[in-house]
Amino acid sequence: MKVIFLAPPSARLFPAPEIPGLPGLSHPLGSPRGNVRPAPLVGSLTPVSPRGLPSVLHPGQSGRLPAPRPPPATAMSNRRKDHLGASSSEPLPVIIIGNGPSGICLSYLLSGYTPYVRPDAIHPHPLLQRKLSEAPGVSIMDQDLDYLSEGLEGRCQSPVALLFDALLRPDTDFGGSVESVLTWRHQKERAVPHLVLGRNPPGGAWHSIEGSMVTLSQGEWMGLPDLQVKDWMCKKRRGLRNSRATAGDIAHYYSDYVIKKDLSHNFVSNAVVTAVEWGTPEPRSPGARDPSPLFQVSGFVTAKDQSQQSFSLSARSVVLATGTSDSPARLGIPGEALPFVHHDLSALEAATRAGTVSPSSDPVLIIGAGLSAADAVLYAHHYNVPVIHAFRRPVDDPGLVFNQLPKMLYPEYHKVHQMMREQSILSPSPYEGYRSLPEHQLLLLKEDRQAVFRDPQGLQKVFGVALVLVLIGSHPDLSFLPGAGADLTVDPNQPLSAKRNPIEVDPFTYQSIHQEGLYAVGPLAGDNFVRFVQGGALAVASSLLRKEARKPP
Ligand SMILES: Cc1cc2nc3c(=O)[nH]c(=O)nc-3n(C[C@H](O)[C@H](O)[C@H](O)COP(=O)(O)OP(=O)(O)OC[C@H]3O[C@@H](n4cnc5c(N)ncnc54)[C@H](O)[C@@H]3O)c2cc1C
Repeated sequence: MKVIFLAPPSARLFPAPEIPGLPGLSHPLGSPRGNVRPAPLVGSLTPVSPRGLPSVLHPGQSGRLPAPRPPPATAMSNRRKDHLGASSSEPLPVIIIGNGPSGICLSYLLSGYTPYVRPDAIHPHPLLQRKLSEAPGVSIMDQDLDYLSEGLEGRCQSPVALLFDALLRPDTDFGGSVESVLTWRHQKERAVPHLVLGRNPPGGAWHSIEGSMVTLSQGEWMGLPDLQVKDWMCKKRRGLRNSRATAGDIAHYYSDYVIKKDLSHNFVSNAVVTAVEWGTPEPRSPGARDPSPLFQVSGFVTAKDQSQQSFSLSARSVVLATGTSDSPARLGIPGEALPFVHHDLSALEAATRAGTVSPSSDPVLIIGAGLSAADAVLYAHHYNVPVIHAFRRPVDDPGLVFNQLPKMLYPEYHKVHQMMREQSILSPSPYEGYRSLPEHQLLLLKEDRQAVFRDPQGLQKVFGVALVLVLIGSHPDLSFLPGAGADLTVDPNQPLSAKRNPIEVDPFTYQSIHQEGLYAVGPLAGDNFVRFVQGGALAVASSLLRKEARKPP
Protein backbone atom coordinates (compact mmCIF):
# COMPACT_ATOMS: atom_id res chain seq x y z
CA MET A 1 0.00 0.00 0.00
CA LYS A 2 1.37 3.37 -1.00
CA VAL A 3 0.52 6.36 1.15
CA ILE A 4 1.16 9.90 0.02
CA PHE A 5 0.93 12.90 2.28
CA LEU A 6 0.24 16.12 0.49
CA ALA A 7 0.99 19.62 1.72
CA PRO A 8 -1.98 21.99 1.46
CA PRO A 9 -1.92 23.93 -1.80
CA SER A 10 -1.53 27.66 -1.43
CA ALA A 11 -4.31 30.01 -2.31
CA ARG A 12 -5.30 32.36 -5.18
CA LEU A 13 -6.83 31.07 -8.34
CA PHE A 14 -8.47 33.63 -10.61
CA PRO A 15 -10.60 36.75 -10.36
CA ALA A 16 -14.19 36.49 -9.13
CA PRO A 17 -16.52 35.62 -12.02
CA GLU A 18 -19.09 37.65 -13.86
CA ILE A 19 -21.99 35.46 -14.83
CA PRO A 20 -24.32 35.93 -17.79
CA GLY A 21 -27.62 34.23 -18.83
CA LEU A 22 -28.83 30.76 -19.66
CA PRO A 23 -28.58 29.46 -23.20
CA GLY A 24 -31.38 29.59 -25.71
CA LEU A 25 -33.58 26.72 -26.77
CA SER A 26 -32.29 24.16 -29.16
CA HIS A 27 -35.72 23.42 -30.66
CA PRO A 28 -38.31 25.83 -31.93
CA LEU A 29 -41.49 26.10 -29.91
CA GLY A 30 -43.11 23.39 -31.95
CA SER A 31 -45.10 22.75 -35.00
CA PRO A 32 -48.78 22.12 -35.63
CA ARG A 33 -49.83 18.58 -34.80
CA GLY A 34 -53.19 16.89 -34.69
CA ASN A 35 -56.62 18.32 -35.23
CA VAL A 36 -57.87 21.50 -33.75
CA ARG A 37 -60.76 20.75 -31.44
CA PRO A 38 -62.96 23.07 -29.49
CA ALA A 39 -61.85 23.72 -25.96
CA PRO A 40 -64.27 22.36 -23.39
CA LEU A 41 -65.28 25.00 -20.90
CA VAL A 42 -65.95 24.61 -17.26
CA GLY A 43 -69.29 25.90 -16.06
CA SER A 44 -69.59 28.70 -13.59
CA LEU A 45 -67.75 28.02 -10.41
CA THR A 46 -69.53 27.92 -7.11
CA PRO A 47 -67.96 30.34 -4.66
CA VAL A 48 -66.20 28.30 -2.04
CA SER A 49 -67.13 28.84 1.55
CA PRO A 50 -64.19 29.55 3.83
CA ARG A 51 -65.65 27.07 6.32
CA GLY A 52 -63.06 24.78 7.78
CA LEU A 53 -60.13 27.06 7.02
CA PRO A 54 -58.36 27.52 10.31
CA SER A 55 -56.92 30.90 11.10
CA VAL A 56 -53.25 30.80 10.47
CA LEU A 57 -50.05 32.66 11.08
CA HIS A 58 -49.25 35.97 9.50
CA PRO A 59 -45.91 36.38 7.77
CA GLY A 60 -44.52 38.53 10.54
CA GLN A 61 -45.70 35.88 12.95
CA SER A 62 -43.97 32.95 11.34
CA GLY A 63 -43.77 30.20 13.85
CA ARG A 64 -45.89 32.07 16.39
CA LEU A 65 -49.52 31.42 16.92
CA PRO A 66 -51.45 34.69 16.60
CA ALA A 67 -53.45 35.75 19.61
CA PRO A 68 -56.76 36.98 18.21
CA ARG A 69 -57.53 34.12 15.85
CA PRO A 70 -57.59 30.47 16.79
CA PRO A 71 -54.18 29.09 15.86
CA PRO A 72 -53.80 25.95 13.76
CA ALA A 73 -53.20 23.79 16.78
CA THR A 74 -56.30 25.18 18.49
CA ALA A 75 -58.37 24.81 15.39
CA MET A 76 -56.93 21.38 15.01
CA SER A 77 -57.70 20.43 18.55
CA ASN A 78 -61.32 21.27 17.83
CA ARG A 79 -61.36 18.39 15.43
CA ARG A 80 -61.91 14.86 16.53
CA LYS A 81 -58.79 13.05 15.49
CA ASP A 82 -59.93 9.51 16.38
CA HIS A 83 -60.24 8.43 12.77
CA LEU A 84 -60.15 10.01 9.34
CA GLY A 85 -63.36 11.54 8.21
CA ALA A 86 -64.91 11.74 11.64
CA SER A 87 -63.73 15.30 12.21
CA SER A 88 -66.30 17.47 13.87
CA SER A 89 -65.44 20.41 11.62
CA GLU A 90 -65.07 20.62 7.85
CA PRO A 91 -61.73 19.57 6.42
CA LEU A 92 -59.69 22.10 4.48
CA PRO A 93 -60.14 21.89 0.73
CA VAL A 94 -56.37 21.95 0.11
CA ILE A 95 -53.13 21.71 2.07
CA ILE A 96 -49.89 22.47 0.21
CA ILE A 97 -46.74 21.07 1.81
CA GLY A 98 -43.73 23.18 0.84
CA ASN A 99 -43.55 26.96 0.38
CA GLY A 100 -41.00 27.33 -2.42
CA PRO A 101 -41.81 28.77 -5.85
CA SER A 102 -44.17 25.85 -6.59
CA GLY A 103 -46.22 26.33 -3.42
CA ILE A 104 -46.26 30.12 -3.79
CA CYS A 105 -47.40 30.01 -7.42
CA LEU A 106 -50.14 27.52 -6.55
CA SER A 107 -51.29 29.65 -3.63
CA TYR A 108 -51.52 32.64 -6.00
CA LEU A 109 -53.68 30.70 -8.45
CA LEU A 110 -55.89 29.28 -5.69
CA SER A 111 -56.38 32.74 -4.23
CA GLY A 112 -58.57 33.81 -7.12
CA TYR A 113 -55.88 35.31 -9.36
CA THR A 114 -57.05 34.19 -12.77
CA PRO A 115 -55.14 34.33 -16.08
CA TYR A 116 -56.89 35.56 -19.22
CA VAL A 117 -55.37 36.24 -22.62
CA ARG A 118 -55.15 39.98 -23.27
CA PRO A 119 -57.61 40.80 -26.07
CA ASP A 120 -54.93 42.68 -28.02
CA ALA A 121 -52.18 40.08 -27.53
CA ILE A 122 -50.77 38.10 -30.44
CA HIS A 123 -48.73 35.08 -29.45
CA PRO A 124 -45.69 34.55 -31.72
CA HIS A 125 -46.43 30.80 -31.94
CA PRO A 126 -49.08 30.66 -34.72
CA LEU A 127 -50.77 27.43 -33.63
CA LEU A 128 -50.99 28.49 -30.01
CA GLN A 129 -52.26 31.90 -31.10
CA ARG A 130 -55.01 30.23 -33.15
CA LYS A 131 -56.08 28.04 -30.25
CA LEU A 132 -56.05 30.95 -27.81
CA SER A 133 -58.27 32.96 -30.13
CA GLU A 134 -60.91 30.19 -30.16
CA ALA A 135 -62.02 30.90 -26.61
CA PRO A 136 -61.73 34.65 -26.07
CA GLY A 137 -62.62 35.76 -22.58
CA VAL A 138 -62.31 32.27 -21.09
CA SER A 139 -59.71 31.93 -18.38
CA ILE A 140 -56.76 29.69 -19.22
CA MET A 141 -57.60 27.70 -16.07
CA ASP A 142 -61.01 26.88 -17.51
CA GLN A 143 -59.67 25.76 -20.86
CA ASP A 144 -58.44 22.34 -21.94
CA LEU A 145 -54.74 22.39 -21.04
CA ASP A 146 -54.11 19.21 -23.00
CA TYR A 147 -55.47 20.82 -26.16
CA LEU A 148 -53.68 24.16 -25.68
CA SER A 149 -50.32 22.59 -24.96
CA GLU A 150 -50.37 20.10 -27.81
CA GLY A 151 -47.47 20.72 -30.20
CA LEU A 152 -45.36 22.81 -27.85
CA GLU A 153 -41.75 21.79 -27.46
CA GLY A 154 -38.94 23.04 -25.27
CA ARG A 155 -36.50 22.32 -22.52
CA CYS A 156 -38.97 20.46 -20.36
CA GLN A 157 -41.01 17.28 -20.71
CA SER A 158 -44.21 18.65 -19.23
CA PRO A 159 -46.69 20.01 -21.81
CA VAL A 160 -48.47 22.24 -19.28
CA ALA A 161 -45.14 23.63 -18.05
CA LEU A 162 -44.26 24.53 -21.65
CA LEU A 163 -47.69 26.08 -22.16
CA PHE A 164 -47.62 28.31 -19.07
CA ASP A 165 -44.04 29.31 -19.78
CA ALA A 166 -44.95 30.18 -23.39
CA LEU A 167 -47.85 32.32 -22.15
CA LEU A 168 -45.71 34.11 -19.57
CA ARG A 169 -42.52 34.46 -21.65
CA PRO A 170 -43.64 34.03 -25.27
CA ASP A 171 -40.30 34.12 -27.11
CA THR A 172 -37.72 34.08 -24.35
CA ASP A 173 -35.93 31.02 -25.71
CA PHE A 174 -35.23 32.91 -28.92
CA GLY A 175 -33.70 35.77 -26.99
CA GLY A 176 -36.83 37.90 -27.42
CA SER A 177 -38.67 39.90 -24.80
CA VAL A 178 -42.27 39.82 -26.04
CA GLU A 179 -44.51 40.71 -23.11
CA SER A 180 -46.66 38.01 -21.53
CA VAL A 181 -49.94 37.50 -23.41
CA LEU A 182 -51.69 37.10 -20.06
CA THR A 183 -53.57 39.58 -17.98
CA TRP A 184 -54.48 38.70 -14.39
CA ARG A 185 -57.86 39.36 -12.76
CA HIS A 186 -58.41 38.92 -9.05
CA GLN A 187 -61.72 37.07 -8.80
CA LYS A 188 -62.19 36.38 -5.12
CA GLU A 189 -65.27 34.25 -5.77
CA ARG A 190 -63.01 31.71 -7.46
CA ALA A 191 -60.68 31.36 -4.48
CA VAL A 192 -60.16 27.89 -3.01
CA PRO A 193 -59.27 28.04 0.71
CA HIS A 194 -55.90 26.46 1.32
CA LEU A 195 -52.93 26.42 3.63
CA VAL A 196 -49.24 26.39 2.65
CA LEU A 197 -46.98 24.76 5.23
CA GLY A 198 -43.22 25.19 4.98
CA ARG A 199 -40.10 24.68 6.99
CA ASN A 200 -38.51 27.97 5.83
CA PRO A 201 -39.95 31.41 5.17
CA PRO A 202 -41.87 31.60 1.85
CA GLY A 203 -39.30 30.96 -0.89
CA GLY A 204 -38.43 27.39 0.06
CA ALA A 205 -35.03 26.14 -0.99
CA TRP A 206 -33.94 29.67 -1.93
CA HIS A 207 -33.57 30.53 1.74
CA SER A 208 -31.05 27.70 2.13
CA ILE A 209 -28.92 28.54 -0.92
CA GLU A 210 -25.88 30.70 -0.19
CA GLY A 211 -27.15 34.25 -0.80
CA SER A 212 -24.23 35.53 -2.89
CA MET A 213 -24.46 32.65 -5.39
CA VAL A 214 -25.66 33.69 -8.82
CA THR A 215 -28.56 31.82 -10.42
CA LEU A 216 -27.87 29.48 -13.27
CA SER A 217 -31.01 30.75 -14.99
CA GLN A 218 -31.62 34.25 -16.23
CA GLY A 219 -33.06 36.40 -13.46
CA GLU A 220 -36.27 36.86 -15.45
CA TRP A 221 -36.86 33.12 -15.49
CA MET A 222 -36.93 33.04 -11.71
CA GLY A 223 -40.04 35.25 -11.60
CA LEU A 224 -43.57 34.25 -10.63
CA PRO A 225 -46.75 35.40 -12.43
CA ASP A 226 -47.52 39.11 -12.70
CA LEU A 227 -44.44 40.44 -10.91
CA GLN A 228 -41.37 40.63 -13.10
CA VAL A 229 -38.07 40.13 -11.33
CA LYS A 230 -36.55 43.10 -13.17
CA ASP A 231 -39.35 45.43 -12.00
CA TRP A 232 -39.04 44.16 -8.43
CA MET A 233 -35.24 44.58 -8.57
CA CYS A 234 -35.65 48.08 -9.91
CA LYS A 235 -37.92 49.04 -7.00
CA LYS A 236 -35.44 47.52 -4.55
CA ARG A 237 -32.63 49.41 -6.33
CA ARG A 238 -30.94 46.13 -7.07
CA GLY A 239 -29.58 44.98 -10.41
CA LEU A 240 -29.16 41.75 -12.32
CA ARG A 241 -25.60 40.60 -12.95
CA ASN A 242 -25.31 39.96 -16.66
CA SER A 243 -29.01 39.09 -16.62
CA ARG A 244 -28.69 36.71 -13.66
CA ALA A 245 -29.71 37.29 -10.04
CA THR A 246 -28.22 36.36 -6.71
CA ALA A 247 -29.91 33.63 -4.68
CA GLY A 248 -30.34 36.16 -1.86
CA ASP A 249 -32.32 38.53 -4.09
CA ILE A 250 -34.46 35.68 -5.38
CA ALA A 251 -35.26 34.46 -1.84
CA HIS A 252 -36.22 38.03 -0.94
CA TYR A 253 -38.32 38.36 -4.11
CA TYR A 254 -40.34 35.22 -3.22
CA SER A 255 -40.99 36.37 0.36
CA ASP A 256 -42.00 39.76 -0.96
CA TYR A 257 -44.22 38.22 -3.64
CA VAL A 258 -46.32 36.54 -0.94
CA ILE A 259 -46.77 39.88 0.81
CA LYS A 260 -47.39 41.94 -2.35
CA LYS A 261 -50.01 39.51 -3.65
CA ASP A 262 -51.69 39.39 -0.24
CA LEU A 263 -51.19 35.66 0.18
CA SER A 264 -49.64 35.81 3.65
CA HIS A 265 -52.73 34.57 5.47
CA ASN A 266 -52.39 31.24 3.61
CA PHE A 267 -48.81 30.63 4.73
CA VAL A 268 -47.48 29.03 7.90
CA SER A 269 -43.68 29.21 8.07
CA ASN A 270 -41.49 27.17 10.40
CA ALA A 271 -44.03 24.36 10.04
CA VAL A 272 -42.70 20.86 9.44
CA VAL A 273 -45.02 18.11 8.28
CA THR A 274 -44.09 14.80 9.84
CA ALA A 275 -46.97 12.58 8.68
CA VAL A 276 -49.63 12.47 5.99
CA GLU A 277 -52.13 9.65 6.18
CA TRP A 278 -55.27 9.02 4.25
CA GLY A 279 -58.32 6.84 4.25
CA THR A 280 -61.83 6.79 2.88
CA PRO A 281 -64.51 7.98 5.26
CA GLU A 282 -67.67 5.89 5.74
CA PRO A 283 -70.40 6.78 3.21
CA ARG A 284 -72.98 8.95 4.99
CA SER A 285 -75.93 6.94 3.77
CA PRO A 286 -76.27 3.37 2.45
CA GLY A 287 -75.88 3.28 -1.32
CA ALA A 288 -74.27 6.73 -1.47
CA ARG A 289 -71.34 7.21 -3.86
CA ASP A 290 -67.94 6.45 -2.32
CA PRO A 291 -66.69 9.71 -0.87
CA SER A 292 -63.26 11.02 -1.81
CA PRO A 293 -60.39 10.19 0.53
CA LEU A 294 -59.59 12.46 3.44
CA PHE A 295 -56.02 13.34 4.32
CA GLN A 296 -54.70 13.87 7.81
CA VAL A 297 -51.65 16.14 7.86
CA SER A 298 -49.63 16.30 11.10
CA GLY A 299 -46.49 18.05 12.19
CA PHE A 300 -45.19 20.83 14.38
CA VAL A 301 -44.67 24.58 14.24
CA THR A 302 -41.58 26.13 15.82
CA ALA A 303 -42.02 29.53 17.44
CA LYS A 304 -39.39 32.27 17.67
CA ASP A 305 -38.55 31.15 21.22
CA GLN A 306 -37.93 27.66 19.72
CA SER A 307 -40.93 26.14 21.47
CA GLN A 308 -42.81 23.67 19.33
CA GLN A 309 -46.52 23.16 18.91
CA SER A 310 -47.90 20.11 17.19
CA PHE A 311 -50.79 20.20 14.74
CA SER A 312 -53.03 17.78 12.89
CA LEU A 313 -55.29 18.97 10.08
CA SER A 314 -57.59 17.19 7.70
CA ALA A 315 -57.89 18.08 4.03
CA ARG A 316 -59.70 16.87 0.95
CA SER A 317 -56.60 17.35 -1.24
CA VAL A 318 -52.90 17.50 -0.45
CA VAL A 319 -50.25 18.94 -2.75
CA LEU A 320 -46.66 17.82 -2.29
CA ALA A 321 -44.41 20.77 -3.14
CA THR A 322 -41.48 19.83 -0.95
CA GLY A 323 -38.72 20.06 -3.57
CA THR A 324 -35.57 17.98 -3.45
CA SER A 325 -33.03 19.89 -1.43
CA ASP A 326 -33.74 18.70 2.08
CA SER A 327 -31.97 15.39 2.05
CA PRO A 328 -28.39 15.67 0.77
CA ALA A 329 -26.92 12.55 -0.81
CA ARG A 330 -24.33 10.79 1.32
CA LEU A 331 -21.26 8.78 0.44
CA GLY A 332 -22.00 6.15 3.09
CA ILE A 333 -18.36 5.88 4.17
CA PRO A 334 -16.89 5.58 7.66
CA GLY A 335 -16.33 8.99 9.25
CA GLU A 336 -18.99 10.82 7.25
CA ALA A 337 -20.76 11.82 10.46
CA LEU A 338 -17.66 13.47 11.97
CA PRO A 339 -18.22 17.11 12.94
CA PHE A 340 -15.88 18.55 10.29
CA VAL A 341 -17.84 16.82 7.48
CA HIS A 342 -20.74 18.76 5.94
CA HIS A 343 -23.23 18.30 3.14
CA ASP A 344 -24.15 21.86 2.27
CA LEU A 345 -22.32 24.90 1.08
CA SER A 346 -23.48 27.07 3.97
CA ALA A 347 -21.02 25.17 6.21
CA LEU A 348 -18.16 26.62 4.17
CA GLU A 349 -19.62 30.07 4.52
CA ALA A 350 -19.90 29.62 8.32
CA ALA A 351 -16.36 28.20 8.58
CA THR A 352 -14.95 31.08 6.53
CA ARG A 353 -16.73 33.58 8.74
CA ALA A 354 -15.54 31.82 11.90
CA GLY A 355 -11.97 31.61 10.56
CA THR A 356 -11.91 27.80 10.85
CA VAL A 357 -10.79 27.79 7.24
CA SER A 358 -8.51 30.51 5.91
CA PRO A 359 -5.72 31.06 3.37
CA SER A 360 -3.27 29.52 5.82
CA SER A 361 -5.38 26.60 7.04
CA ASP A 362 -5.33 23.04 5.73
CA PRO A 363 -7.38 22.77 2.55
CA VAL A 364 -11.10 22.33 2.29
CA LEU A 365 -11.90 19.00 0.68
CA ILE A 366 -14.76 19.35 -1.82
CA ILE A 367 -16.29 16.12 -3.10
CA GLY A 368 -18.44 16.18 -6.24
CA ALA A 369 -18.37 17.26 -9.88
CA GLY A 370 -21.68 19.10 -10.17
CA LEU A 371 -22.54 22.77 -10.01
CA SER A 372 -22.85 22.86 -6.23
CA ALA A 373 -19.31 21.52 -5.91
CA ALA A 374 -18.20 24.09 -8.51
CA ASP A 375 -19.96 26.82 -6.51
CA ALA A 376 -18.03 25.68 -3.42
CA VAL A 377 -14.74 25.83 -5.36
CA LEU A 378 -15.60 29.37 -6.51
CA TYR A 379 -16.60 30.38 -3.01
CA ALA A 380 -13.40 29.02 -1.45
CA HIS A 381 -11.39 30.71 -4.18
CA HIS A 382 -13.04 34.01 -3.48
CA TYR A 383 -11.76 33.80 0.12
CA ASN A 384 -8.36 32.40 -0.91
CA VAL A 385 -9.05 29.19 0.98
CA PRO A 386 -7.00 26.24 -0.38
CA VAL A 387 -9.03 23.46 -1.99
CA ILE A 388 -8.67 19.78 -2.77
CA HIS A 389 -11.41 18.83 -5.21
CA ALA A 390 -12.14 15.12 -5.63
CA PHE A 391 -14.62 13.36 -7.91
CA ARG A 392 -15.10 9.89 -9.24
CA ARG A 393 -15.61 10.56 -12.94
CA PRO A 394 -12.90 11.39 -15.48
CA VAL A 395 -12.76 15.14 -16.27
CA ASP A 396 -13.77 14.59 -19.89
CA ASP A 397 -16.78 12.42 -19.09
CA PRO A 398 -19.53 13.75 -21.43
CA GLY A 399 -22.02 13.28 -18.57
CA LEU A 400 -20.34 16.00 -16.49
CA VAL A 401 -22.61 19.04 -16.31
CA PHE A 402 -19.80 21.34 -17.45
CA ASN A 403 -19.81 19.64 -20.81
CA GLN A 404 -23.46 20.60 -21.23
CA LEU A 405 -23.14 24.33 -20.45
CA PRO A 406 -22.14 26.72 -23.25
CA LYS A 407 -18.72 28.17 -22.51
CA MET A 408 -19.61 31.72 -23.50
CA LEU A 409 -22.49 31.87 -21.06
CA TYR A 410 -20.94 30.17 -18.06
CA PRO A 411 -17.28 31.21 -18.03
CA GLU A 412 -16.96 30.67 -14.30
CA TYR A 413 -18.06 27.03 -14.44
CA HIS A 414 -15.82 26.41 -17.43
CA LYS A 415 -12.95 27.90 -15.51
CA VAL A 416 -13.58 25.38 -12.73
CA HIS A 417 -13.77 22.62 -15.33
CA GLN A 418 -10.48 23.77 -16.83
CA MET A 419 -8.87 23.70 -13.40
CA MET A 420 -10.27 20.24 -12.76
CA ARG A 421 -8.56 19.12 -15.95
CA GLU A 422 -5.27 21.03 -15.70
CA GLN A 423 -4.72 21.05 -12.02
CA SER A 424 -4.87 17.36 -11.42
CA ILE A 425 -2.63 15.91 -8.76
CA LEU A 426 -0.78 14.19 -11.57
CA SER A 427 0.23 17.36 -13.43
CA PRO A 428 2.34 20.35 -12.41
CA SER A 429 0.28 23.14 -10.97
CA PRO A 430 -0.52 26.25 -13.01
CA TYR A 431 -3.04 27.42 -10.40
CA GLU A 432 -2.18 27.92 -6.80
CA GLY A 433 -4.54 26.95 -4.06
CA TYR A 434 -6.35 24.22 -5.96
CA ARG A 435 -5.73 20.53 -6.64
CA SER A 436 -8.10 18.18 -8.38
CA LEU A 437 -8.31 14.46 -7.81
CA PRO A 438 -10.19 13.04 -10.81
CA GLU A 439 -11.36 9.42 -10.60
CA HIS A 440 -10.59 9.27 -6.89
CA GLN A 441 -12.84 7.51 -4.45
CA LEU A 442 -12.99 8.73 -0.88
CA LEU A 443 -12.76 5.64 1.35
CA LEU A 444 -12.59 6.92 4.87
CA LEU A 445 -12.47 10.06 7.00
CA LYS A 446 -10.54 9.90 10.26
CA GLU A 447 -11.08 11.82 13.47
CA ASP A 448 -7.70 13.54 13.08
CA ARG A 449 -9.03 15.07 9.79
CA GLN A 450 -7.24 12.69 7.46
CA ALA A 451 -9.05 11.79 4.25
CA VAL A 452 -8.12 8.44 2.71
CA PHE A 453 -8.65 7.99 -1.07
CA ARG A 454 -8.26 5.24 -3.62
CA ASP A 455 -6.79 6.52 -6.89
CA PRO A 456 -7.52 5.12 -10.39
CA GLN A 457 -4.63 2.67 -10.03
CA GLY A 458 -6.02 1.32 -6.76
CA LEU A 459 -3.40 3.03 -4.61
CA GLN A 460 -4.36 4.77 -1.40
CA LYS A 461 -3.60 8.42 -0.74
CA VAL A 462 -4.09 10.39 2.45
CA PHE A 463 -4.64 14.13 2.79
CA GLY A 464 -4.91 16.34 5.85
CA VAL A 465 -7.94 18.63 5.55
CA ALA A 466 -9.60 21.39 7.57
CA LEU A 467 -13.17 20.74 6.46
CA VAL A 468 -14.98 18.34 4.15
CA LEU A 469 -17.90 19.30 1.92
CA VAL A 470 -19.74 16.41 0.29
CA LEU A 471 -21.76 17.98 -2.53
CA ILE A 472 -23.00 15.08 -4.61
CA GLY A 473 -26.67 16.01 -5.03
CA SER A 474 -29.75 15.63 -2.91
CA HIS A 475 -32.84 13.46 -2.71
CA PRO A 476 -36.45 14.33 -2.13
CA ASP A 477 -37.50 13.46 1.41
CA LEU A 478 -41.01 12.08 1.58
CA SER A 479 -40.47 10.21 4.83
CA PHE A 480 -43.72 11.77 6.10
CA LEU A 481 -45.73 9.65 3.63
CA PRO A 482 -46.66 5.99 4.11
CA GLY A 483 -43.75 3.94 2.75
CA ALA A 484 -41.87 7.26 2.17
CA GLY A 485 -43.88 7.68 -1.03
CA ALA A 486 -42.13 4.77 -2.77
CA ASP A 487 -45.42 3.42 -4.18
CA LEU A 488 -46.14 6.75 -5.85
CA THR A 489 -43.16 6.86 -8.20
CA VAL A 490 -42.98 5.98 -11.88
CA ASP A 491 -41.01 2.84 -10.98
CA PRO A 492 -41.86 1.76 -7.43
CA ASN A 493 -38.88 -0.62 -7.46
CA GLN A 494 -36.41 2.23 -7.82
CA PRO A 495 -35.65 5.01 -5.31
CA LEU A 496 -37.55 8.28 -5.67
CA SER A 497 -35.47 10.70 -7.75
CA ALA A 498 -36.41 14.05 -9.29
CA LYS A 499 -34.48 13.27 -12.45
CA ARG A 500 -34.81 9.53 -12.86
CA ASN A 501 -37.88 8.40 -10.95
CA PRO A 502 -40.27 11.21 -10.00
CA ILE A 503 -43.76 10.94 -8.53
CA GLU A 504 -46.05 9.64 -11.27
CA VAL A 505 -48.70 12.25 -12.00
CA ASP A 506 -51.30 12.87 -14.66
CA PRO A 507 -49.58 15.36 -17.02
CA PHE A 508 -52.61 17.68 -17.17
CA THR A 509 -53.70 17.70 -13.52
CA TYR A 510 -50.52 16.69 -11.67
CA GLN A 511 -52.70 14.42 -9.55
CA SER A 512 -50.99 11.20 -8.48
CA ILE A 513 -51.83 8.30 -10.76
CA HIS A 514 -51.85 6.10 -7.66
CA GLN A 515 -53.75 8.18 -5.10
CA GLU A 516 -56.77 10.36 -5.73
CA GLY A 517 -56.59 13.76 -4.07
CA LEU A 518 -52.81 13.69 -3.77
CA TYR A 519 -50.87 16.00 -6.10
CA ALA A 520 -47.16 16.64 -6.66
CA VAL A 521 -45.48 19.66 -8.25
CA GLY A 522 -41.98 20.97 -8.91
CA PRO A 523 -38.90 18.74 -8.99
CA LEU A 524 -40.89 16.00 -7.22
CA ALA A 525 -42.94 15.69 -10.40
CA GLY A 526 -39.89 16.02 -12.65
CA ASP A 527 -39.99 19.81 -13.28
CA ASN A 528 -36.60 21.04 -12.19
CA PHE A 529 -36.45 24.75 -13.04
CA VAL A 530 -38.47 27.54 -11.50
CA ARG A 531 -39.80 28.69 -14.86
CA PHE A 532 -41.29 25.22 -15.38
CA VAL A 533 -42.58 24.41 -11.89
CA GLN A 534 -45.28 27.02 -12.49
CA GLY A 535 -47.02 24.89 -15.14
CA GLY A 536 -47.54 22.17 -12.53
CA ALA A 537 -49.17 24.76 -10.27
CA LEU A 538 -51.47 25.81 -13.12
CA ALA A 539 -52.48 22.19 -13.76
CA VAL A 540 -53.20 21.56 -10.06
CA ALA A 541 -55.15 24.80 -9.63
CA SER A 542 -57.21 24.06 -12.72
CA SER A 543 -57.97 20.53 -11.45
CA LEU A 544 -58.83 21.71 -7.93
CA LEU A 545 -61.11 24.48 -9.24
CA ARG A 546 -63.01 21.90 -11.25
CA LYS A 547 -63.29 19.63 -8.21
CA GLU A 548 -64.54 22.44 -6.00
CA ALA A 549 -67.04 23.47 -8.68
CA ARG A 550 -68.39 19.88 -8.75
CA LYS A 551 -68.64 19.62 -4.96
CA PRO A 552 -72.25 19.38 -3.80
CA PRO A 553 -73.37 22.45 -1.82
C1 LIG B 1 -27.96 25.37 -5.40
C2 LIG B 1 -29.18 25.40 -6.28
C3 LIG B 1 -29.22 26.25 -7.37
C4 LIG B 1 -30.35 26.29 -8.19
N1 LIG B 1 -30.36 27.15 -9.25
C5 LIG B 1 -31.47 27.23 -10.01
C6 LIG B 1 -31.55 28.17 -11.07
O1 LIG B 1 -30.64 28.92 -11.35
N2 LIG B 1 -32.70 28.22 -11.79
C7 LIG B 1 -33.77 27.43 -11.52
O2 LIG B 1 -34.79 27.56 -12.19
N3 LIG B 1 -33.71 26.52 -10.53
C8 LIG B 1 -32.60 26.40 -9.79
N4 LIG B 1 -32.54 25.48 -8.78
C9 LIG B 1 -33.67 24.58 -8.62
C10 LIG B 1 -34.77 25.29 -7.84
O3 LIG B 1 -34.30 25.58 -6.57
C11 LIG B 1 -35.99 24.44 -7.75
O4 LIG B 1 -36.42 24.13 -9.04
C12 LIG B 1 -37.14 25.17 -7.08
O5 LIG B 1 -36.76 25.81 -5.90
C13 LIG B 1 -38.21 24.16 -6.81
O6 LIG B 1 -39.26 24.80 -6.15
P1 LIG B 1 -40.23 24.01 -5.18
O7 LIG B 1 -41.14 25.04 -4.64
O8 LIG B 1 -40.85 22.87 -5.89
O9 LIG B 1 -39.30 23.41 -4.06
P2 LIG B 1 -38.30 24.12 -3.05
O10 LIG B 1 -37.89 25.45 -3.51
O11 LIG B 1 -37.26 23.11 -2.78
O12 LIG B 1 -39.19 24.36 -1.74
C14 LIG B 1 -39.72 23.30 -1.03
C15 LIG B 1 -39.76 23.68 0.43
O13 LIG B 1 -40.50 22.68 1.13
C16 LIG B 1 -39.89 22.47 2.37
N5 LIG B 1 -40.24 21.16 2.92
C17 LIG B 1 -39.75 19.96 2.54
N6 LIG B 1 -40.28 18.99 3.31
C18 LIG B 1 -41.11 19.62 4.18
C19 LIG B 1 -41.94 19.16 5.23
N7 LIG B 1 -42.02 17.86 5.55
N8 LIG B 1 -42.66 20.06 5.94
C20 LIG B 1 -42.59 21.38 5.63
N9 LIG B 1 -41.80 21.87 4.63
C21 LIG B 1 -41.08 20.99 3.92
C22 LIG B 1 -38.42 22.56 2.06
O14 LIG B 1 -37.68 22.83 3.24
C23 LIG B 1 -38.38 23.72 1.09
O15 LIG B 1 -38.19 24.91 1.79
C24 LIG B 1 -31.44 25.44 -7.93
C25 LIG B 1 -31.39 24.58 -6.83
C26 LIG B 1 -30.29 24.56 -6.01
C27 LIG B 1 -30.28 23.62 -4.82
